[in-house]
Amino acid sequence: MFAISFDPESRTLYWYFTEIIAGSTTAEDEGTATLYLDASQQLIGAQIALDYDTTEDNLTGALEHPAVSFHPENRILAINLFNETPAETIELAELAVMDFDEAEQLQGFELQLPPVEQLDVQLERITSFLITLDSPAEDLEDVERTPETQMFAPDTEENAFRSGFVALVGKPNVGKSTLLNALLGRKITIVSPKPHTTRIPVRGILTTPEAQLVFVDTPGIHDPRNKLGSFMVDQAQRAIPDADVVCFIVDISAPPSRLDKRIATITRRSRTPRILVLNKTDQPSRDGQPHLEAYRELGPWDMEIAISALKEEGLDTLVEEIVRHLPVGTSLYPGDQVTDQNTRTHAAELVREQVLHLTEQEIPHSVAVEVDEWEERERVLYVRMTINVERESQKAIVIGAKGAMLKRIGSAARKRIEEALGRSIYLDLWVKARTNWRDDPTSLHWLGYTKRKT
Ligand code: GDP
Ligand code: MG
Repeated sequence: MFAISFDPESRTLYWYFTEIIAGSTTAEDEGTATLYLDASQQLIGAQIALDYDTTEDNLTGALEHPAVSFHPENRILAINLFNETPAETIELAELAVMDFDEAEQLQGFELQLPPVEQLDVQLERITSFLITLDSPAEDLEDVERTPETQMFAPDTEENAFRSGFVALVGKPNVGKSTLLNALLGRKITIVSPKPHTTRIPVRGILTTPEAQLVFVDTPGIHDPRNKLGSFMVDQAQRAIPDADVVCFIVDISAPPSRLDKRIATITRRSRTPRILVLNKTDQPSRDGQPHLEAYRELGPWDMEIAISALKEEGLDTLVEEIVRHLPVGTSLYPGDQVTDQNTRTHAAELVREQVLHLTEQEIPHSVAVEVDEWEERERVLYVRMTINVERESQKAIVIGAKGAMLKRIGSAARKRIEEALGRSIYLDLWVKARTNWRDDPTSLHWLGYTKRKT
């Protein structure tokens, strides 16, 4: 949730990320606060510079709101309510006071606005976020509140936050995976993977300030003559009715094939909005003929968009059109990968798998891999893990001569984690033997990162 209240008497603004129940605040912290104002002194957001005691893990709930972001480089927690560049930023003389609950989650923070003579901050634009309080914040539980839906009700339908499922359907090789990677790789957002096999739909999540798009990458609808093929048709057919928007991806450089027609038929049966996505516009037509009309005729389509997934052309328009067809609604998934515990566990499992595989059973299955750090850095995800083994002898095997084995484990695991996440990672692996867990600061480690085209 997200709401703001204002006490005009004390000129205090309180920004809430959770319900605050009397007595639930167990810790407080302070930080320098800066207001974001537009050209007419309207408040449009704020930021707080966090000290080192507050980490991203304390912000899980806060970051669920699309307007809230955390910038680890400068440790800034920013709330940009309208996704606008502020005309003016004003650092407040009074420090912001932040409240944390028992689970060390940020509940909200309090800002003290300067007296009107110094700064007349206007609050009209944030009206839709304002809730009224008629008693002090500590007694919030007793307070009559605006219903939750109204707390972050947008002013108009048009700029409302939207979210929903987007099915990408199309025969093999038309560029579905390339498109998904291009869409997700360009933004520093999340991919929640279903990495076990490519035969089940892979999901990627794109969270923008305006919307959350959850992609269901159907595995390509194959010729159903063989068993695997029918399974895939099945998967795709199942993905379509669940979707809020269906994108039918085709290769515009070649004429529609029998399989295109089949998929178009399946797509047409759904009542969800259908977008015809003409991919590979960068590539000349293979037979010198134009094919647009032929694909158009497989419709009707609600919209057609020409793109090049490879050259990343037309993607903004595509996202805009998809968003326009999504229902109004709040995020379906947390807006930040860091909160996705399953992803981390899975990544650790992929490392463990490589340890067992590459050491050829010399290491017992009890080997445990822990994720120590999982952090967004400049366009790359930094992941540090520790491989815990039981004895020094096992540690030596995992590390290998001059670190060769650890390097192999690292490269292979990194490749698989990147595939699962659909993005580049920097993997930092450490090996520790349990026996000297505490007094071994020099455990050998492997560092690996290759820039990968996404
Ligand atoms: P999928 O089977 O539908 O997931 O297709 P892929 O994403 O694996 O792409 C199949 C092939 O088409 C790959 O070699 C891609 O590089 C290529 N491809 C994808 N999109 C484009 C594009 O926009 N232009 C060109 N020229 N090639 C593309
Ligand atoms: Mg693919």
